[in-house]
Amino acid sequence: MDYVSTRAQTSSRPSAPVGLDQALTAGLADDGGLYVPMQIPTLMPDRLDGSQPLAELASHVLQPFFSGSSLAPELDSICRQALDLPIPLVPVFADDHAWLLELFHGPTAAFKDFAARFLATCLAALRNDPQQHQTVLVATSGDTGAAVASAFHRRPGFSVVILYPDGKVSPRQAHQLGAFGDNVHCYKVQGNFDQCQAMAKQALNDVELSSRLGLTSANSISMGRLLPQITYYAYAALRLANPNDKLNVIVPTGNLGNALGCILARAMGLPIGRIVLATNANRTLPDFFEHRNYRGRPGLETLANAMDVGDPSNFERLAWFYRDADLHKANLKAESINDDTIRQCIERVYRAGGYVLCPHTACAMELLHRYRKQGDSRTWLVAATAHPAKFETIVEAVTGQRLDPPPALAELLTQSSHAVALEPDVNQLRNELITIRQ
Ligand SMILES: *Cc1c(COP(=O)(O)O)cnc(C)c1O
Repeated sequence: MDYVSTRAQTSSRPSAPVGLDQALTAGLADDGGLYVPMQIPTLMPDRLDGSQPLAELASHVLQPFFSGSSLAPELDSICRQALDLPIPLVPVFADDHAWLLELFHGPTAAFKDFAARFLATCLAALRNDPQQHQTVLVATSGDTGAAVASAFHRRPGFSVVILYPDGKVSPRQAHQLGAFGDNVHCYKVQGNFDQCQAMAKQALNDVELSSRLGLTSANSISMGRLLPQITYYAYAALRLANPNDKLNVIVPTGNLGNALGCILARAMGLPIGRIVLATNANRTLPDFFEHRNYRGRPGLETLANAMDVGDPSNFERLAWFYRDADLHKANLKAESINDDTIRQCIERVYRAGGYVLCPHTACAMELLHRYRKQGDSRTWLVAATAHPAKFETIVEAVTGQRLDPPPALAELLTQSSHAVALEPDVNQLRNELITIRQ
């Protein structure tokens, strides 16, 4: 399988197609575009075994994407190492046709563990020079940083540098980010997430610095993060869809990486019907589907902080996949949920059935609630993206109940935590990066 840049047709100096190994190592294409597979492979869902565990199914589903890659013979083992995480399908209280797919049972309690572990396992398997060192630079609004840190923690040949906006992640998220130590270096930037992201981009685009330190990105633009996100939707669709009723899915959405996994699963032939993108008050995607006009803008701060995105990085991939078709006929839509409604939804679902939602998952559950009120009786899946205990200050205030963190998170919270304060200035970051590697 070849991978092409989303800008290959429009750039004056387009990047040539590459194999998966190079797409994984490079992250971003030279022309600034995102890598996409040249074709979307088709699967025969009736030949797949819907009772397989995720890691086994993943290896079948991802096989065509790995054809020609040096990692193809290792795909089974990569999936077993990276994707061997529980993914319970939990029935929604008092609803016979709706399930929550709990994607938060990995080491850092958010769905990003699947992607980060898969990418780290692939990059470690691709490393053939024992002298080679890579520095994974990641800007995070909370969950990505922890997932990436955990996935690369103590891996020989890698270090991780995390930039997060000081005061803009939950207290538990902040503690978690600074608790790894060893090869993980954590910086609290005196600015907002956009500034963290700009610093990371500037450092990665600095050719001299980048090659000297072996800088690489692990933000959601990497193909290595997108591919594993196809697999759990395949898993859910094979278990829950039946011949007369495809599985309809609601995905809490920020940068559009997770939802793109679902969109690819459907395009590959898995029995998925409607896909709805649930956003917080950041309306870029809902406005696009309503007015047919894409307008990126600065992100707004909301209770669902991991989705505070005003210019979703994966939109470019979505536009590329639908380049010949009308994206507005793609059986996709996006709807926005504001902070008051997030709180009300968390409270309503807790009072009704004792289930506690994280603020991100609440955006998606609210949409399910609306569809049911409008008389929709189809089968729905809601992707549950984080454990609510990661957002304890919000959730405990709404439910009035203390919420214990899951075991892996509890363990991290007992460790000491340390983050270095940094001005939002790429020169300061450059000095830090050089010091770390000395
Ligand atoms: C990152 C994140 C999202 C948004 O996922 P995207 O792939 O950026 O759309 C939603 N919920 C949680 C808990 C997250 O950490």
